[in-house]
Order: sequence, then C-alpha cells, then structure tokens
Amino acid sequence: MYEFDYHRPASLDEVANLLATRADAKIVAGGMTLVPTLKLRLAKPSDLVDLAAIASLRGISDEGDALVIGAMTRHAEVNRSALVKAGIPALAALAAMIGDPAVRNRGTIGGSIANNDPAADYPAALVGLGATVRTTSREIAADDFFTGMFETALAPTEIVTSVRLPKPQAAAYQKFKNPASRYAIVGVFVARTSGGVRVAVTGAGPCVFRVPAMEAALAASFTPEAIKDITIPDTGLNSDIHASAEYRAHLVGVMARRAVAACA
Ligand SMILES: Cc1cc2nc3c(=O)[nH]c(=O)nc-3n(C[C@H](O)[C@H](O)[C@H](O)COP(=O)(O)OP(=O)(O)OC[C@H]3O[C@@H](n4cnc5c(N)ncnc54)[C@H](O)[C@@H]3O)c2cc1C
Repeated sequence: MYEFDYHRPASLDEVANLLATRADAKIVAGGMTLVPTLKLRLAKPSDLVDLAAIASLRGISDEGDALVIGAMTRHAEVNRSALVKAGIPALAALAAMIGDPAVRNRGTIGGSIANNDPAADYPAALVGLGATVRTTSREIAADDFFTGMFETALAPTEIVTSVRLPKPQAAAYQKFKNPASRYAIVGVFVARTSGGVRVAVTGAGPCVFRVPAMEAALAASFTPEAIKDITIPDTGLNSDIHASAEYRAHLVGVMARRAVAACA
C-alpha cells in the first residue's frame, strides 16, 4: 500500500472541499473493493476521504410508492430492513446474497453502484426496478447511470447520496453465483411494475443490460413459458475460467424463468 492522508469529514461540503483541493483524493465507503485495490498497489490516491461520519448518507425511508436508501447504507442493513422486506422483498433477498457476512457488514449500496463491477448484484436491481440515483448535483435514471465495465455516468467529484427505488407489483432476483466470491456469474432481476415488465441482467456482459424481447413477452403473459423460446446471443458476453459466453447466454434464460416463477 502506498502512503496517503486519511480524512473523515462530517459534511458533504467538507468532502467537496477535500476533493477539490487535494491532488488525487478518492472517496472510501465500505472499502471492500477500494482497500484490496490499494493493498495490491493498483491505485495511488493522495488522500482517502471516508464518508462514514456523514449521517445523512445513511438509512432507509419510505416515500409511499418508493423506498429511498442512503448511499452509505450497508448490504446487511438493506437485508434486515423491515421497510425493504415489506416494500421490495426481492431487494432484501438480493442483499443477503452479496458476498459473505464481512462484506455485507462493510459494503455499501453507494460504493457498489459507483464501482459498477460487471458481476455486482445491485445494478440489476436498480435497472430492473427503474430506480433513480441521486447525487450531490443531480438525479440520474438507472438506465443511464451504468455506462460500461466499471464505468458510470458519475463525474469525477460527484458523489452518490441515495437511491430511489419504486416499489414493484412483484419482483424477484435469481443468481447463479461464483461459489468462491458469490459474485454473479449471471444474475437476473425481473420486476412487474405499473409501467410494464423489466428484465435486467448482471454478470453476463461487461455491464448490466435489459432484455427487451423478454420484457415484451412477459408483458403479454407473465409466465416462465412465455420466455422459454427467447435466446440471448452470446456475442459480446463475458467469457472466463468460470463460464464461457455461450454458457452465460444459456444461464440468462434459466435465471430469468426462475425469477418469473419466483414472482408468483
Ligand atoms: C470477497 C468479496 C465478495 C464480494 N461479493 C459480492 C457479491 O456477491 N455481489 C456484489 O454485488 N458485490 C460483492 N462484493 C463487493 C461488495 O459488494 C462491495 O460493497 C462493493 O465492491 C463496493 O462497496 P464499498 O462500499 O465497499 O465501496 P468502496 O470499496 O469503499 O468504494 C468502491 C468505489 O466506489 C467509490 N465510491 C464509494 N462510495 C461512493 C459514493 N457514495 N459516491 C461515489 N463514489 C463512491 C470509491 O471511491 C471507489 O472507487 C464482494 C466484495 C468482496 C471483497
């Protein structure tokens, strides 16, 4: 690990000031991705700005037709939340599938989506639910937020403050996990909402994506049979020692049908 200065500001104004005045400052949330990156000397920030002392970034609230989850809310808190279990039970279940207890007790929803690992779970939920990401300067639709592998629409000093997730009529997430890390080899989030059906896939490609053919078929008939003949081309999908692109394409169909069945 290279040397850096550590800061624990108490307000977003102080964070903004540090990011503006330090040479190469970086935000740290749960540190579950950033700290291993530093240990491997893959990053060399001049300063680490810890968001942990900013109370306004933490917590879950019910806005009636949506839940709002603060960026610094940990995966274990999302999993345990009575509001999430009542409003979006599929999200509480998804949070329980992330990593191991240590990761769930340190990792945050804001850190996860800002990092946008291609195998992360939350991007599928945000896109599947048609969520909105709130930042220090604007609101971004989840469909526009995740732009590529480890890439988002965030500007360099922009901070995720919360996520607004509309409550669906029904939703479910199914993932075929890497047995070591529990990251998604393929994960599919299906939601039936007042605006239609959404199907979002993580793990299969470089970035979360929707499957319009499945969404149209499920809008006509919300059954696993309705999508059994829809195949996903393997072109451009991830291929590694865990699964080939062809296998991932197959898994998208399997996980999507399981998710639809789990919505019933
Ligand atoms: C062993 C292991 C297993 C895991 N398994 C899974 C899994 O199964 N599924 C899954 O989805 N994830 C998994 N993860 C990742 C985990 O969910 C982390 O929560 C996630 O990688 C990053 O969240 P963090 O809060 O730790 O962010 P950090 O590591 O602190 O930060 C990550 C990046 O996001 C930036 N950042 C953090 N917060 C904000 C913010 N509010 N605004 C803007 N930028 C910000 C940081 O500057 C940094 O670049 C795993 C991690 C580990 C170590």
